[in-house]
Amino acid sequence: MTEAQFAYEVVHRLRDAGYQALFAGGCVRDMLLGLEPHDFDVATDARPEEVQRLFRRTLAVGASFGVIEVLGPRGDDGKPIRVQVSTFRAEGPYSDGRHPDSVVFTTAEGDASRRDFTINGLFYDPIAAQVIDYVGGRRDLEERVLRAIGNPQERFTEDKLRMLRAIRFAARFELTIEAETFAAIREMAPQISVVSAERIAEELRRMLTDAHRARAMTLMWDAGLAHHILPELAALHDLPDASAGGTLWDHLMRVLDLLRDPSFPLAFGALLHHLQSNEADAICRRLRLSNDERHRITWLVQNHEYLRDAASLRVSKLKTILSHSGIRDLLELHRADAEAVGRSTEHVAFCERMLEQWSEAELNPPPLITGNDLIRMGLKPGPRFRALLEKVREAQLEGELKTHAEATQLVRRLLKGEQPA
Ligand code: ATP
Ligand code: MG
Repeated sequence: MTEAQFAYEVVHRLRDAGYQALFAGGCVRDMLLGLEPHDFDVATDARPEEVQRLFRRTLAVGASFGVIEVLGPRGDDGKPIRVQVSTFRAEGPYSDGRHPDSVVFTTAEGDASRRDFTINGLFYDPIAAQVIDYVGGRRDLEERVLRAIGNPQERFTEDKLRMLRAIRFAARFELTIEAETFAAIREMAPQISVVSAERIAEELRRMLTDAHRARAMTLMWDAGLAHHILPELAALHDLPDASAGGTLWDHLMRVLDLLRDPSFPLAFGALLHHLQSNEADAICRRLRLSNDERHRITWLVQNHEYLRDAASLRVSKLKTILSHSGIRDLLELHRADAEAVGRSTEHVAFCERMLEQWSEAELNPPPLITGNDLIRMGLKPGPRFRALLEKVREAQLEGELKTHAEATQLVRRLLKGEQPA
């Protein structure tokens, strides 16, 4: 059974029990756009307790807001299909700029009007195969307009995250943001600071992994949101791009467009690649990204020019970077960066050839000597220690050393060389 079929069954069961039940929100929008919805939400006048009574397996994910998850048979991924069933609700005042203080249960029309944008405020009756539109969402979808439901200023005052959602939906579905909605975002952009770093990061993640990532970032800039979320970029926005004309920002947008199906760290690294790596690191910390993502992003920024002349790097240096777990991301960044300014991508092709040609054992052989070996030779751990190990590693990757004995010899020679005459 597909998720759509199960969602239909859920609606049917609620109807048979005498309740109203409709598909709601994103799934209706996606269907009208001819896209496959990635999850189905059902809205109903049944109360949460009644929904729980009607279905065998449910999870009270947000019962106080009227949200119950109904579990169905296993889907293709082996996990139970889940459909969210929400009681029609209106939201009380928002005192924190992000969450309603309370909800009250209401009608379908009332429920439509608490939603954020007209395109997200549609219902669909799957049994009558009919769209139910209280907010003019259908027309906006046809005309490709993103419009807040009700007074945009009020809606963004209630929940500031909606400003980022507006940008994300407008970019993803290639919509124009309606003038008053856009003016309200521009005016209220500084207030984005009340939204938690995690939520901001999540929106950025979704914008940047979508194919319309450059458009999303351009809208973020035009709306004045980028200035508050990524002020470091504002500083270089208008700087000229020495290699291709235009501004650095134009260059960044071209690079974003040229990335093929990037991970979030790659896309974000590309957006930040003209900053210092310590600035990139600080941004990742501010957005509370995971350590893994922060390290990957910072590493990409730091090395975004490293492979430009890959063929003339020392073999040891080339092998070291090619065996880094982020190398595919780094090559993709180099490719997009070069294409964005019309430079050759031969350096990327060269690295790809070397990755094919070198076996794992050639690229990243087990070390010939370890710290323990040095300790056994009577050395004490410290900076000199690290430097010795690096020298040996370098010689090994260059193919100058093949055995443990040769490595030990080199250490002895290096130590002698270090003695003051
Ligand atoms: P996506 O495909 O990104 O999941 P979606 O429209 O399904 O898009 P969700 O965040 O899953 O978005 O939310 C489901 C529905 O809930 C939305 O379509 C909208 O009607 C409503 N909604 C979600 N977040 C908000 C919000 N912050 N303010 C008002 N309504 C919201
Ligand atoms: Mg959704």
